[in-house]
Amino acid sequence: MSPTPRHYVGRLAPSPTGLLHLGHARTFWIAAQRARAAGGTLLLRNDDLDAIRFRLDFVAAMLEDLRWLGLTWQEPIIAQSHRLPRYRAALARLHAAGQIFPCHRSRRDVLDALSAPHEAGAPARGAEPDEPVYPVQFRPPADATLPPLTDPVTCNWRLRVPAGETVAFTDGRAGPQQAVAGRDFGDFLVWRKDDAPSYQLACAVDDAELGITEVVRGDDLIKSTFRQILLLRALGATPPDYYHCPLMTDDAGTRLAKRHDALSLRALREQGRKPEEIIAEF
Ligand code: GLU
Repeated sequence: MSPTPRHYVGRLAPSPTGLLHLGHARTFWIAAQRARAAGGTLLLRNDDLDAIRFRLDFVAAMLEDLRWLGLTWQEPIIAQSHRLPRYRAALARLHAAGQIFPCHRSRRDVLDALSAPHEAGAPARGAEPDEPVYPVQFRPPADATLPPLTDPVTCNWRLRVPAGETVAFTDGRAGPQQAVAGRDFGDFLVWRKDDAPSYQLACAVDDAELGITEVVRGDDLIKSTFRQILLLRALGATPPDYYHCPLMTDDAGTRLAKRHDALSLRALREQGRKPEEIIAEF
């Protein structure tokens, strides 16, 4: 008997921290095409955990702009801010398994401990500056008794990564990828002292619990993928497939960012551009 083919479940995961631009549109359009080609389901996850940059009007704008572009997804949309108990439950599991540790160091402490010049703090190709590699001397011993998790959480918690282990995956577009834990990235934040989950934890929990079979997103997130694979493993879940799209750049070769308002879908629409023309250029 041949195995039943897995039903494809993809997701669009915009962040409501600005207006969507042409680069987002292309990535989301590719995600929608891949879901459609597989006869699958496409979910929309509203990544609304960034309390500082979040704006309700950006949620409405991103949904409207994606609909204008012709994208459709399964309703209702999923808001990360409604899933906090799920993330907290995952944190408790990581804690019970001894996979995390509390961290009282500041970002300054971490940067001071790293000898310059260090590759770790340098931006990856096309990416935002990455979280610096957490100095190994700051880790508590592996057999140290963990303090309990408090409610609310009042200190940072980090995942203890398997130092020296190569984490690998084959990207559906970019091919084989690998990174060494403890060298290319270090013990990373899973929960912040302001009692909020990190993007890495929330994303890994969602991808596992929503049954996502393929994650399509920008290739600035490849470094996050290694971390999320480790988190999924620590939570006993199988990682989805990954397909990272190249980021779009402007005429000067700079990666498009939300500050490129002239290339926002909204501005293009106001200039009379039609969605089909925009898509034809992807
Ligand atoms: N919301 C994230 C972003 O816009 C994407 C997260 C993801 O696709 O995993 O960068």
